Amino acid sequence: MTNHDSALPAPRLGEPYLLTPGPLTTSYPVKSAMLRDWGSWDGDFRAMTVEMRTRLLAMLGQGADDFDCVPMQGSGTFSVEAMLGSFIPRDGKALVLANGAYGQRIAEIAEYLNIAVVTLVVAEHEWVSTVALTEMLARDTDITHVAMVHCETTSGILNPIEDYAPIVKEAGKVLLVDAMSSFAGIDIKVADLGIDFLISSANKCIQGVPGMGFVIAKQSELLLCEGRARSLSLDLFSQWKTMEDNHGKWRFTSPTHVVRAFQQALAELNSEGGIAARAKRYAANHQTLIKGMKAQGFQCVVDDDKQSPFISTFVYPDSNLFDFNKLYECLKEEGFVIYPGKVTATPCFRIGHIGEVYPEDMQRLLVALANNKFWEQEDALENVSA
Ligand SMILES: *Cc1c(COP(=O)(O)O)cnc(C)c1O
Repeated sequence: MTNHDSALPAPRLGEPYLLTPGPLTTSYPVKSAMLRDWGSWDGDFRAMTVEMRTRLLAMLGQGADDFDCVPMQGSGTFSVEAMLGSFIPRDGKALVLANGAYGQRIAEIAEYLNIAVVTLVVAEHEWVSTVALTEMLARDTDITHVAMVHCETTSGILNPIEDYAPIVKEAGKVLLVDAMSSFAGIDIKVADLGIDFLISSANKCIQGVPGMGFVIAKQSELLLCEGRARSLSLDLFSQWKTMEDNHGKWRFTSPTHVVRAFQQALAELNSEGGIAARAKRYAANHQTLIKGMKAQGFQCVVDDDKQSPFISTFVYPDSNLFDFNKLYECLKEEGFVIYPGKVTATPCFRIGHIGEVYPEDMQRLLVALANNKFWEQEDALENVSA
């Protein structure tokens, strides 16, 4: 059962919808799945971890046999850091494609870890050009790894991974993809594209609760990584080895409730019809929102042809009476939590459309927004009094 089948709205415990992925709005069964305790050494719990890894790999479709799945405790960034620190050798060098905060964060992590790093940076509503990528790889032959973000959640831009991957592979480099906010929400041909390592987390398109991420790793590359890690707790090779040798045992305290909720979330993804069905719902959410926002005079930061179906960014209305915090509070009152902007060049705010939310919920949000345009009402009042 998903909440959508029930008469009550999705959160069902009186909390607002989280249009802030993520954390995002989870279904009632996902939340309820956490109402008991598990021992992390216990066989039932370890079996849950084994099943989770198997199910995640099955989502890759063709070529899945060449991959393995390594979960990691913590928020998504812990997995990004674990990936960079565990897989890039001491004499390696990373090229990071960055058009937002998450791309920049990959480069920053590399610097923290003393990994040689260069970047190709463009504005947050633009794509790094394939020509620039090709030239950079030809010019700097020390580069061994290329890291990119699929959906840059900063703006909601969806980066053209199908264009970049062949260039990276042609140049013989290892490809690392941060697919945190896109994996399971859109079909990613991981094997066909030649992706070596891809990361995502529990609390984005799979609609679980926060507390762990996971790396999908090409087995042949993973096996080369023993002893490379720059951190004890974020050593993905050791995590993988422990899970393999001990039937799903995590190295350190496992996020038991998070894994149980994730198991329920994976079952719901399956009963919804898999990635294709979920992608369709997210696209419908997105279309409903964008159409309504444009009708209300809002302007998008990202062009339609570059926009992902996961999160959208809107420019602040052109009124000095507009106040994001005030809008935030008004909408929260009406049951919707939205996201502040992260695009540095433009004052903007964000609305996520993933999680246990449906086009009807987007419609209700649009009504709530239309009823709370205090900046227009105050503008009008001022005009009257002038
Ligand atoms: C959510 C997200 C992350 C991880 O962020 P955390 O706050 O650490 O969970 C990383 N990259 C992208 C693109 C994301 O959307």
